[in-house]
Amino acid sequence: MIYPIVKYGDQVLERPAAVVTEFDNPDLDKFLEDMFESMYAAKGVGLAATQIGVSRRIAVIDISVGEDPSQKIELINPEVLHVEGKQKGEEGCLSIPGFREEVSRGKRVTIRAQNRKGEVFEQTGEDLLARAFQHEIDHLFGKLYISHIAALKRDLIRRKVRKLAKAGEWA
Ligand SMILES: [Zn+2]
Repeated sequence: MIYPIVKYGDQVLERPAAVVTEFDNPDLDKFLEDMFESMYAAKGVGLAATQIGVSRRIAVIDISVGEDPSQKIELINPEVLHVEGKQKGEEGCLSIPGFREEVSRGKRVTIRAQNRKGEVFEQTGEDLLARAFQHEIDHLFGKLYISHIAALKRDLIRRKVRKLAKAGEWA
C-alpha cells in the first residue's frame, strides 16, 4: 500500500515519535513493506513513519532508490552514536516538496537501531548515507532539515508554504 506523504505544517512531523516495543510480527513486516513502497513511489532515498502520519520510530532508507536491494535499510528506534567530519550539500525532504537548501551534516555517521526482529545493530555510513541517517533520525525526533538552515531562509520557506496552502496547492 502506498501512503500519501504528510506535508510540512502537519503537527505529526514536529512531534517526537513513540518508541517501538513490539517486534517480529506481521503488522510490522507489512508496515515496513508499505514504507518502502511509499518511498519508492515518491522517489525518495529515505522515509520516516511520521511522514506518512504514523508517530512511531521507524524509518527506511535506500540510497540506490530501488536499484540495489542490498542497500535497503530498516531503522527501528534508531539513534546517532557517533559523528565524524563535516559535509555541505543540498538537501530536500518529501514533506517539503519543491524546496532544497544547503545543509551542513556529519560526513561519517554511526547509528544504532533495531531490525524488524528487534535485534540491535550498528551501521556506519558516509556521505549521502550519513546524510540520510541524520535526516531520517531527525524526523523521528520531530525535527525537519529546515531547522538546520538560517532563520531567514526558513521563514521564507514558511511564507511560501503558507501561500501555497492558501491557494490549495499544499495538500
Ligand atoms: Zn525528510
